[in-house]
Order: sequence, then structure tokens, then C-alpha cells
Amino acid sequence: MAESFLPSETVTSWGRVVRASHRVARPRFADELPGLLSALSPADPALPIGLRRSYGDSNLNPGGPIIDMTGLDRVISIDRTTGVMRAEAGLSLSQALQLLVPAGWFLPTTPGSRFVTLGGAVANDVHGKNHHRAGSFGASVTRIKLLRTDGSAHELAPGDPLFHATIGGLGLTGIIEWVEFRAIPIPSAQLDAQDAEFSHVRDYFDLAAEAHTRAEHTMAWIDCLSGGAHLGRGILSSASWRSHGDLVPHREDPKLAMPIDAPGFTLNGMTVRAFNSVFHDLKRMRVGPYTTHYEPFLYPLDKIANWNRLYGRDGFYQYQCVLPPATARDGVIELLKVIAASGQASFLAVLKDFGAHPPAGLLSFPMEGTTLALDFRNIGTRTLDLMADLDRIVLSAGGRLYPAKDGRIPAAVFEAGFPKLQDFRGYVDRGLSSAFWRRVSG
Ligand SMILES: Cc1cc2nc3c(=O)[nH]c(=O)nc-3n(C[C@H](O)[C@H](O)[C@H](O)COP(=O)(O)OP(=O)(O)OC[C@H]3O[C@@H](n4cnc5c(N)ncnc54)[C@H](O)[C@@H]3O)c2cc1C
Repeated sequence: MAESFLPSETVTSWGRVVRASHRVARPRFADELPGLLSALSPADPALPIGLRRSYGDSNLNPGGPIIDMTGLDRVISIDRTTGVMRAEAGLSLSQALQLLVPAGWFLPTTPGSRFVTLGGAVANDVHGKNHHRAGSFGASVTRIKLLRTDGSAHELAPGDPLFHATIGGLGLTGIIEWVEFRAIPIPSAQLDAQDAEFSHVRDYFDLAAEAHTRAEHTMAWIDCLSGGAHLGRGILSSASWRSHGDLVPHREDPKLAMPIDAPGFTLNGMTVRAFNSVFHDLKRMRVGPYTTHYEPFLYPLDKIANWNRLYGRDGFYQYQCVLPPATARDGVIELLKVIAASGQASFLAVLKDFGAHPPAGLLSFPMEGTTLALDFRNIGTRTLDLMADLDRIVLSAGGRLYPAKDGRIPAAVFEAGFPKLQDFRGYVDRGLSSAFWRRVSG
């Protein structure tokens, strides 16, 4: 083992269910990577990681080495006329926006947190609220540099099979040294937005279909604790870039922070129900058009640093599935009925449609249909049993689960959702692995 892997540091992911000891390397310069990789072997595989915003165990390698890529965060080039940006894989989307926005450019698509690295965005082929227009992040990636533990280095472009294995490849095909992607032009940093209320989730689908024809960004918050006539009531938000206005980027620092783990009792069914209800009423008060900076619209949760501590020491799971159009409406209704009946508290859930774009990667999560994402506080077996019930609904609806959010699915559930999994296995670098990969590889 190379000296640059420090012994035994406790590392956890965003959901904080697993806290495990890892040997960590923190390279600062790209020329350190070949030396680190040459120390790895299939007997002691490593995992590259970014800002650890994945929720479960796809960014953990308990007992083994991890390569924290966040020190490699330099911008290599930006073409101000085409919007093509090349940067080291540890650069965060937040840092990229500080440079792009004043020059009139924006990320082609962005997840709901800007504290995600370019490497992480590629390895999970992340999606945003504009999937129906732009597809996933991988669709705008023009080149990547990949290093493998056999000592080989590859500059890859769309069309190369190893490129498509690496997009959504969960960090298992090699270490991404840098990423080049095409940004999109924006006229201002503001969005023209509007909210529309629906009193039952069945009404979401027509509202969303209409919003997709006119808006670049759409998503719905739903209250997954309300049942009966108000099952999955919610608010659909939609927005498009405002044609005029300033190009001022977001402020880097979150305004609020969770300083300590919330004690378990603070987050029970009653408090979540109260929170959902207040949130719903607040949103309802301003149903109709408004103008907003991109930050609160695209990154509402980034306002509170470490909000994941709200779930207490035992952490939480996120459950995110996508169901195809033919089964989405009935499937989502069934999922929400089971969740409401379980009484297991979850904060507001998110519902969003994916467009019919060809997948950018062999294991890309997005496929045409509707995606539902929600959190469950970890209360042990009851939580796991509930999610196993949800898995059965997702599988019979022909859907799949998002590895970036997962920390527990069995191999069979993963395999059923990803038809290109067998092809993908052929591109895995045997000197790399993760807790997720070992679990789903049986
Ligand atoms: C509040 C919040 C909202 C979110 N919203 C969304 C959303 O809307 N859409 C969405 O798609 N996701 C969303 N996510 C998930 C997040 O976008 C992904 O988990 C993302 O991959 C995290 O990137 P990261 O830099 O934190 O990487 P990590 O979580 O540390 O790692 C993620 C994966 O990338 C691999 N990896 C990281 N760096 C490299 C590298 N240099 N080379 C090779 N592999 C690498 C790791 O091995 C791992 O498999 C959200 C997460 C949070 C916390």
C-alpha cells in the first residue's frame, strides 16, 4: 500500500447509516494519481470519491482504500464562445457556477445540490429538473480522462464503449481525472417560475405534461403522509430562464447549519406531518407566477448545511425509483398508499418526469417515466421491510432504483432494473470496488 493512504479514518455517506473505517488518500495534483493506482490490486480494491453526496453505500469502501478527489479542483479551460469547460474531476458544481454564471453560462443540468463534484456527476450520470429537455449530465459531456489501475490512461469521447461505461459507471471503470462538458447559455441568473397546486397525486400527471411543453425546469413536492382524498397532494413548480436581468452567481456559504445530530425524538411522524402541512400551506399562499434567483429554485436544500443530521445518529435512507409512462400513474399511487399506511415519517417527497432521451451510460438511472424520491429515517427492520414492499411495486411496474441513493437493495432488484448490467461488468476495473458493488454482485 502506498504511503499516501492514511490509516483508518471514519467515513460516512450523506444518509449516515453506515460509518466505516477507510484508508484515505487525498491527492492534490494529478501527477500523484498513477502512483496511487499502481499500489492497488483486486485483493485490496479502492474507490474514488467526491463530496460524498450519494446517500447510501455506492461511495463507500469499508475497510479498504478510498481516493478523495476533491483536492483536484482546478479549472483547465473555458471557451467563452462555445461554453465548453474542462476541469479536474474534484471541482464542485458550485465552484463551476461561480465562473460560468457571470460569463452567461450555466450547467447543462444539475442535481438538487450544488455540492457535487464533476466526477460524481459523471459517475452517477446525474439528472436535474430539466431532464425532459436536456437529458442527464452525461449527455453534455464531450470528453473525459480516465486512469485505470493497470496503468493505462484514456481520453474518451462519446461513441467510445469505455466512455459509455464510465458515464453512470459508479466509479468502477477507473478514476476520472478531468471532465469536459458543454454548458448552456443563459440570459440572466433569474428564473420566471410558477407553482400549481394539486389535491391528489393522480392530477400531477396532466399538470406535469402541460408544464413540460412550456417550461425548462419542472418538479413537484408532494406530501406523502396525506392519504384518502388527498393522497400525494402537492405543488408542481415550473420555471424557465428569465430573458433579462443580472448574471450574479449564488453566495457560496449556506445561511444555516445543523450543528449537532438532532435527537431521535425530534423527527417523528407528528413533526413531519406538521412540517409537510406548513410547507404545503406556505407554497399554496403564492400559487401563481413569480421571479426567483436560480439558487432557491434549483438548490433549496443547500440552504441548510448538514441538514442530513436532522435524522439523528442512526441516519436515514433515501428511496428513489423511476416507473415507465405506462405504469407510472397507478404505480406511484400504489407506492404512496403503502407509504401513507406504514406511518413511517418522511419529509416532503419529490416527483418529476424524465424525458425520452437515449441513456448516456450503460447504467444510467434515468429512463422515460416518472421518478419519485423520498427519505425514510432509519428505524431498523421496519424501514427495511417497508422499502422491500416498495421494491416489489417498482419491479412489477417495470421500474428501477437509483444506485446513488441506495444503501440496501439486493442483487436481484438491481439486476432487474438495469438490462445492460452484464455488458457493464466487462468494463469494471478489478482494482476498484465499493460496498454497493460487492452487495449487488452477490
Ligand atoms: C440534497 C441532495 C440532492 C440531490 N439531488 C439529486 C438530483 O436531483 N439528481 C441526481 O441525479 N442526484 C441527486 N443527488 C445525488 C448526487 O447528485 C449524486 O450522488 C452525486 O453523484 C454525488 O456526487 P459527489 O461528488 O458527492 O460524489 P460521491 O457521492 O462521493 O461519489 C458518487 C460516485 O461517484 C464516484 N466518483 C466520484 N468522483 C470520482 C472520480 N473522480 N472518478 C471516478 N468516480 C468518481 C464514486 O465512486 C461514487 O460511485 C442529490 C444529493 C443530495 C445530497
